Amino acid sequence: MQIEQLLQQYFGYASFRVGQKQVIKRVLAGDNTLCIMPTGGGKSICYQIPALALAGTTLVISPLISLMKDQVDVLLQMGIAATYINSSLSYSETMNRLNQARAGRFKLLYVAPERLEDPAFVAILKQLTIPLIAVDEAHCISQWGHDFRPSYRYIKNVINELERPPVVLALTATATKQVRVDICEQLNIVVGNDVITTFARQNLAFKVLKGENADVFLKDYIVKNQSEVGIIYAATRKNVDQLYEQLKKVGVSVAKYHAGLSKSERDEYQEAFLYDKVNVIVATSAFGMGIDKSNVRYVIHYQMPKNMESYYQEAGRAGRDGLDSECVLIYRPQDVQVQRFLIEQSASGERFGNELAKLQAMVDYCHTEGCLQTSILHYFGEFEAVGCERCGNCTDTRERIDVTIDAQKVLSCVIRMGQRFGKVMIAQVLTGSSNKKVLGFRFDKLPTYGILSNKSTKDVNLFIEFLISEEYLMVEQGEFPTIKVATKGRGVLQGKVQVFRKQQVETKQIVKTDSPLFEALRAWRRERAKAENVPPFVIFSDQTLWDVCAKLPKTLDELLDVKGIGEQKQVKYGAELLAVLGNEVDS
Ligand code: ADP
Ligand code: MG
Ligand code: ZN
Repeated sequence: MQIEQLLQQYFGYASFRVGQKQVIKRVLAGDNTLCIMPTGGGKSICYQIPALALAGTTLVISPLISLMKDQVDVLLQMGIAATYINSSLSYSETMNRLNQARAGRFKLLYVAPERLEDPAFVAILKQLTIPLIAVDEAHCISQWGHDFRPSYRYIKNVINELERPPVVLALTATATKQVRVDICEQLNIVVGNDVITTFARQNLAFKVLKGENADVFLKDYIVKNQSEVGIIYAATRKNVDQLYEQLKKVGVSVAKYHAGLSKSERDEYQEAFLYDKVNVIVATSAFGMGIDKSNVRYVIHYQMPKNMESYYQEAGRAGRDGLDSECVLIYRPQDVQVQRFLIEQSASGERFGNELAKLQAMVDYCHTEGCLQTSILHYFGEFEAVGCERCGNCTDTRERIDVTIDAQKVLSCVIRMGQRFGKVMIAQVLTGSSNKKVLGFRFDKLPTYGILSNKSTKDVNLFIEFLISEEYLMVEQGEFPTIKVATKGRGVLQGKVQVFRKQQVETKQIVKTDSPLFEALRAWRRERAKAENVPPFVIFSDQTLWDVCAKLPKTLDELLDVKGIGEQKQVKYGAELLAVLGNEVDS
């Protein structure tokens, strides 16, 4: 069968996306291939279609154990015989699946890389017909990558042990040159035999927020977007716990995830998120490798991550279904110190230097005034990119206001107070508070006392944060963080540097369309998912539901024109969908 036909019949898509066909053709021609596509670009189809076209069982190596079940469920929903083997299965269930695999029952077999270290398992693989090995998240093979997984190194042995060498297809969303070369070397891919589509994510709008109060912004944003699904990344477990409590307090239905929770807690929260029981999850970077949820509408980084690779991967979890989504990074200079500290704890020698350079690139990204998407693409070696017209910088029309005089007042006050106090105390002196501590230090005698008393303490606090984020002031961490004037700030005091500030960012609703039909379809999907005990996106993606809204199919035949409805789903859900639309099935 033609590959286009397979795409329509099983997946319900009318055409391939950029790069997919090229990869599939290479694989079917027997060439080892490296496929680099952005998250949500559609890498899975690049091995799933060949798996359908080739005789035997395609082996898929995936580090995402928690994801395997969902990935396999998605395939089963489409009528594709697939299974997985990982540590979540009992011994007898594992043997049962392997026996079926030996009998040639599956088109795809997903396994965790750790399995490949087990000679008994490899011996069984040798009894299967394996035309293709797909190595998903292939950057895990490289220690230069950000998710190095030692057991990926065993893939090579397995390939060598198989009697008939399979075609190898490596897939990843993030790979710098170094990582790319590493993947090719280890998996026997001729350098240059790669298909690299653009890293650009056309549906993502990137934003960097500086000098704003992170908590105020966050609450406002989440409350405004309550009905949308979002992920909030924070740097430490403590931050996650705090944010979780804060959001719960304002009535947001929220879950959390970090390595300090017990396994059962993590499973419970993750499931609540996957199954759309809560819309928001607050997490450390430990969360996400196992997440293929396609309807994430926003990802907020409450703190800056340690490098661009991590950032793009985490932010990229938004909008996998291709619908417009937002990625907001909140920048505060003190977070650079946190990341630096974490790097010092974990790396040394050459690796340390490497990691620091990556951190600097992350900081540079936060400060760029040009297109953010372009800046990301440049980092990954794509230089053709032009402005995206979507990101925070491309769409920024806020007015720049000259705030040099106010800045001088703050800086001068910091110096007069001896540069040994924190933000709150400084704001109190500036606004002329008669707080006991202020009077105790005799700060009411300073010429800068009450010099900003026309403003609220909160606004002065925000202004100090702004001066910190623009590096006129710096924070020195100690038992209590203290604020000092930075080199750039001295320039302001000497009248050599002017300070401009943009108006505050307004939080907006991401999805503007209010569609009762979409809500009805979403409710139907939730019920159906509950009945089948799978996450809602396994039944249909948001993309499919929106396409139903756009096309308003009236018959089972017309349903096949909807993106993401193939033959199996037409049969299984067609009548129910039409009923939600108010149509009876024509028989
Ligand atoms: P990746 O692994 O590259 O992050 P996936 O393979 O998970 O991406 O695909 C992301 C989404 O895009 C899935 O919902 C998938 O069904 C959809 N998709 C893939 N190929 C196509 C296509 N040709 N047309 C429409 N949607 C597609
Ligand atoms: Mg994938
Ligand atoms: Zn842009």
